[in-house]
Amino acid sequence: MHRRRNRAKLEETFGGSAHCAYGRGAIERPCTPAAPEVTILDERIGFIGLGIMGRPMAGHLVDAGYAVTVWNRTRSKMTPLLERGAAAAESPRDVAARSDIVITMVADTPDVRAVILGPEGVLHGVRPGSIVVDMSTISPAATQEIAGQIEARGAVMLDAPVSGGEKGAIDGTLSIMVGATDETFARIAPLLRTMASEVTHCGEAGAGQAVKILNNMILFQTGVALAEALSIARANGVDGKVLFETLTKGSADSFALRNHGMKAMLPGVFPERAFSTVYALKDLSYAIQMAEEAGVPALGADVARELMERAKELGFDKEYWPVLIKAIEDGKS
Ligand code: NAP
Repeated sequence: MHRRRNRAKLEETFGGSAHCAYGRGAIERPCTPAAPEVTILDERIGFIGLGIMGRPMAGHLVDAGYAVTVWNRTRSKMTPLLERGAAAAESPRDVAARSDIVITMVADTPDVRAVILGPEGVLHGVRPGSIVVDMSTISPAATQEIAGQIEARGAVMLDAPVSGGEKGAIDGTLSIMVGATDETFARIAPLLRTMASEVTHCGEAGAGQAVKILNNMILFQTGVALAEALSIARANGVDGKVLFETLTKGSADSFALRNHGMKAMLPGVFPERAFSTVYALKDLSYAIQMAEEAGVPALGADVARELMERAKELGFDKEYWPVLIKAIEDGKS
């Protein structure tokens, strides 16, 4: 009943406005799902990692009418989804054995390795023809290596990290950056659209991670500029609110200004259940690693990392990452 009721919603989602981007150039063009919607809904979905992001994302899949099997290391976090109709698995391996498409949304590279390659990992339950979708933000190089091990089992793995934070996950308005072959992207894009307003094909395996990490590198550097400007303005007797509101009317306007600047740095609000300094440092370290491997100087990223490390030393590791402004204020002479 539930699945039939939601089919109309799904058809609406995949209707005339659906677009896919194909190939490295990621040029948008109208997209027809690879298979009819009825087949898509018949795919059994497994979801591993029900944290801040994973729980609402899995909820959208349940709401869309998919049969969803979930697993989380802390089992109590599965309860809200089980109450909404999801099934519980005993391990990531069990999830894989019961699913056609397995999604992982955990913290970092070692955690993706644990749930995929560990003794009770996805690798040991995955079946030929299945798809493993890692939506965590992790190292692009590790992504390619893990994808190789999945492929040796006759399945495919793609990277589909997200941008948009907890609000985007709850509202189903994430931007998802996908690294996959054209064929796999066409099969997976309709499913991803149940949790996103933007689904972009960035290239082959690892390309989604690379784009996501560079997105965050730019965001963090913008954050440094905003924090410096606010601190300098206040130290010179200029009202911070006047500064930021004026900037929204000129060439320094940005998403980061309106959100990270005006909603966090200006009022000094850095909640713990948001994107933390530790997670930001993780993403930044991967950006710097990519730069080093390519021989590209990334001085701006180095500065952002230094300030975040300092914020961590000051005890702000769990706070929302714009808290790096405290490191600037702490360094004032
Ligand atoms: P989170 O709330 O900390 O949740 C992490 C999830 O991973 C939890 O379910 C946790 O299980 C699980 N996990 C971690 N290590 C594990 C391991 N070794 N074995 C098994 N499970 C493990 O994180 P989140 O905010 O949802 O973020 C998830 C990913 O999305 C991260 O890669 C993050 O960088 C990225 N991201 C986050 C945001 C954001 O605003 N939060 C935005 C975009 C992207 P337990 O419940 O047992 O701890």
